[in-house]
Amino acid sequence: MKEDERKMKEKRLFGTNGIRGVVNRELTPEFALNIAQAIGTFFNRGKVLVGYDGRTSSPMLAKAVTAGLTSTGCQVWHGGMAPTPAIQYAVKHLRMDGGVMITASHNPPQYNGIKVMAKDGVELPREKEVKIEKIFFNRKFALAEWNSLGGIYEASGVIEAYIEAVKKHVDTAAIREKRFKVVVDAGNGVGSLTLPRLLREIGCRVLTLNANVDGTFPGRLPEPRPENLGELASVVKSVGADLGVATDGDADRAIFVDDRGEIHWGDRSFALIERYFLMEHPKETIVTPVSSSQLIKDVADEFDGKVVWTKVGSITVARTMIKVKAKLGGEENGGVFYAPHQPVRDSAMTTALILDIMAKTGGKLSELLEKLPKYYIEKGKVPCPHELKEKVLRELVGKLKNMKIDTIDGVKIWFEDKSSILIRPSGTEPLYRLYAEARTRRKAFTLIEKYEEIVKSILDKLK
Ligand code: MG
Repeated sequence: MKEDERKMKEKRLFGTNGIRGVVNRELTPEFALNIAQAIGTFFNRGKVLVGYDGRTSSPMLAKAVTAGLTSTGCQVWHGGMAPTPAIQYAVKHLRMDGGVMITASHNPPQYNGIKVMAKDGVELPREKEVKIEKIFFNRKFALAEWNSLGGIYEASGVIEAYIEAVKKHVDTAAIREKRFKVVVDAGNGVGSLTLPRLLREIGCRVLTLNANVDGTFPGRLPEPRPENLGELASVVKSVGADLGVATDGDADRAIFVDDRGEIHWGDRSFALIERYFLMEHPKETIVTPVSSSQLIKDVADEFDGKVVWTKVGSITVARTMIKVKAKLGGEENGGVFYAPHQPVRDSAMTTALILDIMAKTGGKLSELLEKLPKYYIEKGKVPCPHELKEKVLRELVGKLKNMKIDTIDGVKIWFEDKSSILIRPSGTEPLYRLYAEARTRRKAFTLIEKYEEIVKSILDKLK
């Protein structure tokens, strides 16, 4: 609640990934109607595709959003229940003027959210979100007359078109020949609608877990974190599968389990995709947030690739990719952006790319991942009131003269031995987060201890 009160005070609605809130607390049908009137005013009577995930509140909110959009004269096309990347693909493919996706991604079941896409299917840049916020807070809705309200139409075949699009970017014949055995854990999210089907269509033998859409998320929490994926890992091992894949609630992120049942965090699977992408396209640019592993840079260095580090957040990664014309981007949470398909996170595309690499190299996933450099990651946090975050950062940066640092998002310090630490104020909670990375666990741990102390001492002086 505090975070929402703060955002309201600052007149901000959009967070790092759209608008989010607990249903019928912050995110009521009335709010959805009004924000959709602001979005509709922004799109100025255009054609807007509306899609939603499998949450209990999604159909209700989609109806409120539809009412808001049509009241401002927008033509609403219903894409139905589908993964976020499928709706994003449809916005572009169906030549819409924009899109609205009702989803809270990986958040717990009581949450929902609203994401707004531009006509290219990518989330709106920050400055356009600000425009919508202004319309909302000033209640400057361009309501249409009774005889110029928007119509409501069905956009059929969204999922089919999306699956076909993904297939075009991989060697389906090579994948088919391997008859891979794949276990999909869709976490009761909308990945259930696309991933098992795509994999069967490209000749995989598919077993599913939690692959029925259920907004109460009875199988596991919607975020595919290693601690939620024990069941997937043990099924992969017990059935002798080649691959396990787990998606988040709206199926834009994918986390993989190798043939030995080992769960890999997203920057390792991303680095594997990066490696084979750069082998075929050396010197290309890779976009990734500053929170990603040094691994991404190591792999890029191997093939003269260039890494562009960004602020944390998928919208920034996507928008930066478009700006610098990069074809590949990725995040440590399992989001991979493959621009030849679309520059947004896409779990089906990511899974297809991994299978493509396995098919072409003939390697097992465990062996392919083993070849990547190994880093150890340790995390820490220091409580810090919101109002002191900026000051702490300034003091901290002042103390780090003569060191190799980056201040894109918080401060990242790079050391000679390839270890690094990112010290970053949380966007939502009153604390600083620390992520250290090193070639040994001991070193990563030492970095956390040392810099937690430094942040604490700065805070003590400011208080
Ligand atoms: Mg998501």
